[in-house]
Formats: sequence, C-alpha cells, structure tokens
Amino acid sequence: MVSGRTREPPGECLAGDHRMTVSTIAQRVVRVLLIEDSVADADLIRDAFEDAALDPALGGAVFELEHLDRLRAGMERLLAGDVDVVLLDLSLPDSHGMETFVKLERTSPSTPIVVLSGLDDEQMAVRAVREGAQDYLVKGRVDGITLTRSIRYAVERKRSEDERARMARAQAEAEASLRSRDETLASISHDLRTPLTSIRGVAQLLQRRISRGGPLDPDELVERLGRIEEQTTLMARMIDDLLDVARIEAGRPLELHLESCDLVALAEKAASDVQRTTDHHQIRVITAVTGGLTGAFDCVRIERVALNLLTNAVKYSPDGGEVLVTLDRESGPTGAWAVMTVRDQGIGIPPDDVPHIFERFYRASNVGDGIRGTGLGLAGAQQIVRQHGGEIDASSLPGLGTTITVRLPLDG
Ligand code: ADP
Repeated sequence: MVSGRTREPPGECLAGDHRMTVSTIAQRVVRVLLIEDSVADADLIRDAFEDAALDPALGGAVFELEHLDRLRAGMERLLAGDVDVVLLDLSLPDSHGMETFVKLERTSPSTPIVVLSGLDDEQMAVRAVREGAQDYLVKGRVDGITLTRSIRYAVERKRSEDERARMARAQAEAEASLRSRDETLASISHDLRTPLTSIRGVAQLLQRRISRGGPLDPDELVERLGRIEEQTTLMARMIDDLLDVARIEAGRPLELHLESCDLVALAEKAASDVQRTTDHHQIRVITAVTGGLTGAFDCVRIERVALNLLTNAVKYSPDGGEVLVTLDRESGPTGAWAVMTVRDQGIGIPPDDVPHIFERFYRASNVGDGIRGTGLGLAGAQQIVRQHGGEIDASSLPGLGTTITVRLPLDG
C-alpha cells in the first residue's frame, strides 16, 4: 500500500512531501529527508520507494519521504528534529561538493547521511563516506531494494556507532572516577601518616624516658600528652573528611551538626591556615560588617568549604598574586544572608567548563597534568552549602581569575 501527502513547500523550495508505506507485521516508521534539486532525480527516488513498498520481501518498515531542494532548507529542517536519515545530493543550488556534506553533518552529527552521486562525481561520494557519510548511492542505478536496504543499514550502523561512542564516554568517566578515588585515598593515607608519626614519636620518647628511670617533668608530660590529643583530633577530622568524600562520591546527603558560629571568624582562621602554606600569594580578608556574621552552621564543614575555596584559589594561581576574601550581609525578602566571595588572579576557567565545575570528578580543560586534584572539592562544597539552604556560584575570566560566591541563610 502506498500513501502520499503534500504540503506547501518552505521558502524557495519547490518540493513536496510524500509518505510511502510498506505494510509490515512490526511496523517502524523511518523518516527520510531527501535533499535534491533535480525534480527528475527526486522522482526516480520516489519511484524507487514506491517499488520497495510493493515488494513483500521488504516488510518491517514504513518510509516517510520528505523532499527539499536547498541545503539551507534541509539544515533548518534537520534542526527541527524527527529525521531518521538524509539522502543528500552534493550539488545543490546553494552549496557544492564536500562542503554540502560537511555543513549538513555539522548541523546534526547524530543523523545518518547517505550521499547521492552522479556517475561523474562518484569519487567525491567515496570521500564523503570516508569523512563520515554512512553510504553512497549512484543516481539512476537505484532500485527500491538497494535504496531501502542502504537506508536501513545507515540508520542501524549510525545507531551502533553512537552507542559505541556513548559507551566509550561512560567508560572514560568511570575510569576518571576510579582514578580520582585512588588519588583521594592515596592523598588521605599520606596525610594520615603525619600525625601518626608525631604520636608515635611522643609515645616512644616517653617510653624511653620511663624505661631508663629518667626524670619526668610534669609540665613536659602535660605538653607531650596535649600533643598526642591534638594529633588524634586532627586524625579524627581527616577520617570524617574521608567519610564525607565517600558520601559525596556516592551522591548521598551529609548529616549536618548545626551550631552557632561566626562566618567572619571562620573565614579569617581558614585564610591564616592557607596563608601558612604559601609565600607567593597574599590572602586578604575584608569585611564591612561589624559584629560578625553569626548563623546556625555545621561549622566544621563550612570551614572545610572555606578551606577548599582558598586552597583552590592558591593552587590555580601558580604565578602567585592576591587572593581576596570578602564577607557581607545581604537582606532579601526571605531573610538575611551571609555572602562570602573568594577571588583570585589565577588561570581562570574556560566558559564551557564553568557550568560543570560543581559536578563530581569534573576538572576544567585548562588544568593540564601539572595541577593535581580529584574534582571532588567543589562538588562537596556545593553539597554542604545546599544542605544549609544556601547557594554557591562561580564566575571566571580565563587568564584573569576566578570568583566563587557562597551565600548562606543567617538566623533571623
Ligand atoms: P580539584 O580537586 O580538581 O581542584 P574541585 O572540585 O575543587 O577539584 O574543582 C573542580 C575544578 O574546578 C578544578 O579541577 C578546576 O578545573 C576548577 N577550579 C576550581 N577552582 C578554581 C579556581 N580558583 N581557579 C581556576 N579553576 C578552578
């Protein structure tokens, strides 16, 4: 059975729109866009579809044919979507040769293209296949079976190519995630060794003194035991961080422990901790608010957010420079907010990467191999800030620097 329909041709296009139906058991519609300026050649293609429709051996598909005669109209049609395959003549009134294929392919890389060639330009069609066209057909030698078979293979081949590409991407992501986990574990186990070595050192010293029966000054003993306590607290904090990383990696929420603390004091402490790690950056904290910015925060975790932003600001400014932390209070219809910004003069973030940097394991394309990281810090920061009912944003100018802004709701 063959059915047809016509509609007004778009713009300068003279062509119509036809639907060829092959009656099938399991019907599947294949939407074919024919871009061909020769009315005679278009008629031949239409005839070939009609022949195929009559052939019982070609059951299983319904072909809908839509015909346009300019590349521009074809590109617009592709952008509108719902085209399964394109039959493309390379010589059109508004484009010639390989350029025709390249432009169309760029418009919709996921749509398979079968090139139609004349007897005299078969070489060009072969080139188009090398560049990514699924197949080519020589005009005047196309019968219904060759045509429909080529189209169906083109659709299937393109689908499996896309699927392979999707799987390769998923595998690359999984590998990046594993690499990142390994790096995190390696760096945390390395960091855990430092306090552990210090505790062991104190314990061995005390042991030696006692076994030799030497004097034990009570003040020195208190100081040494204090050192052990300090180092075990540090280790406990690292283990909590590790547990948070595992939760963040798995996309699970954290259990917040809210208490009252001042964001200004917290930022100043984080700034002086990070300042101690570098002498070619100047970290400055400025605020116009008096009396601090006290709110109900999970202070340990908000401090971790501040430390993460400051560490990044230093790490991604390899040439040094100023890191400016500002703190402000903002009032809005939903109450008061504490706003903290961390601004650096570093490498910046390419515009295409900015929307993704809060995703787990995502690292911007300009970090190269030189700047180490796991791509988890900002994902964790965002999770912590959002669980407080706040927001975190990034703005950046590549080569000039980055500003990260954190907004947290304040009490009353
Ligand atoms: P990482 O461990 O890679 O630093 P983060 O989650 O902290 O992971 O940051 C994610 C990505 O965002 C980084 O890899 C980097 O590309 C980009 N980034 C974060 N902060 C900055 C910054 N201050 N300057 C430039 N790029 C940054």
